[in-house]
Amino acid sequence: MRIRACDHKAFSGGLSMVDRAYFDWNATAPLRDEAREALRDALALTGNPSSVHAEGRAARRLIEHAREEVAQLAGARPADVIFTSSGTEANALALTPAIETTHERRPRDRLFMSAIEHSSVRAGGRFPREAIADLPVDADGRLNLAGLAEVLAQASRPLVSLMLANNETGVIEPVAQAAAIVHAANGLLHVDAVQAAGRIACDIGALGADILTLSAHKIGGPKGVGALVRGSDDIHFAEPLIRGGGQERGLRAGTENVAGIAAFGAAAAAARARRADEAAHMLALRNRLEAGLKAISPQAVIFGAAAERLPNTTLFSLDGMKAETAVISFDLEGVAVSSGAACSSGKVQPSHVLAAMGVSPSLLRGAVRVSLGWTTTEADLERFFGAWRKLTTALSKGRQGIAA
Ligand code: PLP
Repeated sequence: MRIRACDHKAFSGGLSMVDRAYFDWNATAPLRDEAREALRDALALTGNPSSVHAEGRAARRLIEHAREEVAQLAGARPADVIFTSSGTEANALALTPAIETTHERRPRDRLFMSAIEHSSVRAGGRFPREAIADLPVDADGRLNLAGLAEVLAQASRPLVSLMLANNETGVIEPVAQAAAIVHAANGLLHVDAVQAAGRIACDIGALGADILTLSAHKIGGPKGVGALVRGSDDIHFAEPLIRGGGQERGLRAGTENVAGIAAFGAAAAAARARRADEAAHMLALRNRLEAGLKAISPQAVIFGAAAERLPNTTLFSLDGMKAETAVISFDLEGVAVSSGAACSSGKVQPSHVLAAMGVSPSLLRGAVRVSLGWTTTEADLERFFGAWRKLTTALSKGRQGIAA
């Protein structure tokens, strides 16, 4: 994708016009045209969706239409979609002892989460620290299913949180198999599908998830909107996340972000309609990218390569490379990539995902994430290869300098 900085002054700080190749789609995707249009139209409305007059009803209609579109993306019923201010907030709403089922009104007693979850899950929501335990992953970053039943037996009413796809490696987790084990242990399963939505199928019923998190800005909607989706009306939240005016079925008070939600709905509809084509496009380019990466530097290691992954994500490293230097060096060549999780970029911390996969500290330090999207082009790949060639040449010169 070519971004002309002059078209994105807020983002670029008004830099002079430059072409860029954007490979940080897992951090955020550009707004889809449909979402921009829905945003613009909704911003023109005045009504509060809680008001009974015509203006209020017009705003309410936009929200309910978006609810239908977001529900369809997750294979759920509109009544089971709760809009939030982000994926982070949806995770915070999900992770509470106060989730009940029609047959089990007592609170969840333990929270189990995979060791590779996003920081918004790792924070544990409203569970006390001592009630939270980690579930290990294998060297490819997949949840260890063997032994899961024994671990869950430590609790009477466990809640398990497992992401559908990892934001750093793109590795797809065995959610449906985990769901069967969790349910056999009287547990409930929360699935963070923020990175998976729009890239692979996310049907809450097929996954066996009880609750599922989505975020608008990863699928071409605006930042600052998310949703928590219930798998059935058997799931009840006994405690709201935010108390107040009773919006979103009393679980998340506050006047709704009408424009953001309308644009989320438009993005969800587009993502759903185009998923197969976009996934095929991304996969073809991602495979070319990985082949080129290895052709230039055969020693490069691609994490999770043996596992099933999202079609758009590559996390790689090279011994002796430092991720922060690599990201800057790509950036100077007009290529936007990231080191580890975007939410922690700015402050470079070693990836907890790679640490959980048992990656050596020297490789872990150099992990760079390249993530593609529906507008990524062959020209973007060429630009990436040019920058990678330059970086690896500089690295090997540096090594020779040290050896001399
Ligand atoms: N979950 C995962 C897997 C993510 O990658 C992210 C964001 O990067 C989030 C949750 C948080 O979503 P949001 O940025 O909408 O708060």
